[in-house]
Amino acid sequence: MKLTPKFLLSAMAPEHFPTEAKTNHAPEVAFLGRSNVGKSSLLNKLVGAATAKVSSTPGRTRAINFFALHEGAKAMPSIVFADLPGYGYAKISKSISAEWPKFIEPYINEREELALCLCLVDTNIPPQESDTMLIEALRDMGRPHLVVGTKADRLSNNQLGKSVAALKKAHGEDRILTVSSKSDAGIKALWTEIYGVLEA
Ligand code: GDP
Repeated sequence: MKLTPKFLLSAMAPEHFPTEAKTNHAPEVAFLGRSNVGKSSLLNKLVGAATAKVSSTPGRTRAINFFALHEGAKAMPSIVFADLPGYGYAKISKSISAEWPKFIEPYINEREELALCLCLVDTNIPPQESDTMLIEALRDMGRPHLVVGTKADRLSNNQLGKSVAALKKAHGEDRILTVSSKSDAGIKALWTEIYGVLEA
């Protein structure tokens, strides 16, 4: 299937989230991760030119940026991507939500269309507590999620294996998909996971 991505809108409040008129309740895939995890690079890889509009506009990094993926000439998207603001700047934080703008929690808690949360974690650094907290919160909420290890090209196979084992253990996950926006490793497998929301 060939999907054409288009930038949809930036939301700074729940009332700005895309409505049925714009997406016809298409399933949404959210991209979550600490700042610098490689989220922009990955989104750029997945939706290419559609991201240019986002990075060139100040303030949009603190918004939820929505992208619509259209199949052929269909007016309504088949899948919607939601790019959430990065977290984890503060060294010590009691909760992730303390650092996050107020409109993030309603999105994760209540958004009906949200079908899959992709939790990006950096394979080049030790497991981060803020990531564990987010992943635990998603598990508690019963939100389908997949942990995606980024920047896999920077490690040898042996190092990557060790990093993945440590991440699985720290985050209590059985499975982690590793990707690289530089080498394209794992990108096809990630698309397969994303297409999975169409069958849900
Ligand atoms: P964001 O803050 O999560 O949006 O992260 P960026 O996409 O801006 O990436 C942060 C840094 O990591 C930049 O210097 C990128 O060039 C680098 N980076 C991102 N993805 C990869 C990757 O797959 N491989 C390598 N080697 N570097 C990456």
